[in-house]
Amino acid sequence: MKETVLKEFGKVFGDTDGVKVFFAPGRVNLIGEHTDYNGGHVFPCALTIGTYAAARVRNDRRLRFYSMNFEQLGVIDSSLDGLKPEKEADWTNYPKGVMWAFGERGFEIPQGMDILLNGNIPNGSGLSSSASVEVLTGAILRDFFGFQVSNQDLALIGQFSENKFNGVNCGIMDQFAIAMGKKEHAIFLDTADLSYAYVPVKLQNAKIVIACSNKKRGLGDSKYNERRSECETALAELQKVVDIKSLGELSEEQFEEYKFAIKDETRVRRAKHAVYENQRTLKAVKALEANDIAQFGQLMNASHVSLRDDYEVTGIELDALVEEAWKVPGVIGSRMTGAGFGGCTVSIVEDDAIDTFKKQVGDAYLAKIGYAADFYVVEIGDGPVVL
Ligand code: ADP
Ligand code: MG
Repeated sequence: MKETVLKEFGKVFGDTDGVKVFFAPGRVNLIGEHTDYNGGHVFPCALTIGTYAAARVRNDRRLRFYSMNFEQLGVIDSSLDGLKPEKEADWTNYPKGVMWAFGERGFEIPQGMDILLNGNIPNGSGLSSSASVEVLTGAILRDFFGFQVSNQDLALIGQFSENKFNGVNCGIMDQFAIAMGKKEHAIFLDTADLSYAYVPVKLQNAKIVIACSNKKRGLGDSKYNERRSECETALAELQKVVDIKSLGELSEEQFEEYKFAIKDETRVRRAKHAVYENQRTLKAVKALEANDIAQFGQLMNASHVSLRDDYEVTGIELDALVEEAWKVPGVIGSRMTGAGFGGCTVSIVEDDAIDTFKKQVGDAYLAKIGYAADFYVVEIGDGPVVL
């Protein structure tokens, strides 16, 4: 891939003088969905697939961007002066947002840049290609301009720019998983205080398989914001009877004891998901540490049921993928991953069953939904690197 982006850079920008190549991963969340804005835990990992960049510094304040994933847009020209989100700037609003966010943190970017991207994760599908681009941009700026920022800072700057520049109200999980990624480990992250632990993912004779529904979803989805506000209202109702700062502080038993305070049946189910999913995440990490992959898989399945029935963020596409996956012998667990309403599922599948899984789930999906799903057998990789 390094050669590919270098060669393309030369074609697009004339030569490759002073160019360096960078990579930032995509991410998949194994369990702990819609818990990140409820003060709960998440359990994502970085992938060995993600976004590559070839970049160099210019002697003026011009910014030139090109993405091999959006070739039809050609070179998008801009400037370091007056960075602001613009519709016609399209995808470059992500790297520009990160440049702006560095400025807000007091890191002035002294010179313009030429940047070429090439991603090998699907974008707009819940594997966080946007966070991958943000962390990648941060890594590029840090490297060229010597900014003293840690990988965790890159995550926070990425989230800040996505929230404030791109207007997407995302939690910290995506950028954190990508910036802090560690080969063969998932990250057990407490979103309430950003304390975290790396947990080895040893799946013995099985692999992580991602199925992409190819149904597009946007985080800007009104449903996402609706769920956030339903949880906020439920929290405010619970706070009248119990002293908590977030839903993530409640055990299942406490939730059952206090749920009478929530005055709407739908909101009870939303809050129930947030509480139970957080507890499932704690149990899942324990199961993995005890090498009990079967139990881990059961918790993934239960997570999907809760997201389908209580949180109602799955939709027919993700349900079709997961419910067919559950029928395949050798599937240890399967669930939707990411915000939902489209995007991807994540499954743990025994090596011998992977071909059958792809065929059976792929055929059933095509028959039911009318277009094909894509499958990725993935590995857990490191955070951003200079190649
Ligand atoms: P997700 O983060 O789940 O992949 P988003 O809708 O949040 O989905 O982000 C997708 C957007 O991120 C794309 O539409 C594009 O603007 C930007 N993006 C991601 N990868 C690339 C890439 N390789 N080149 C250019 N832009 C990209
Ligand atoms: Mg995104």
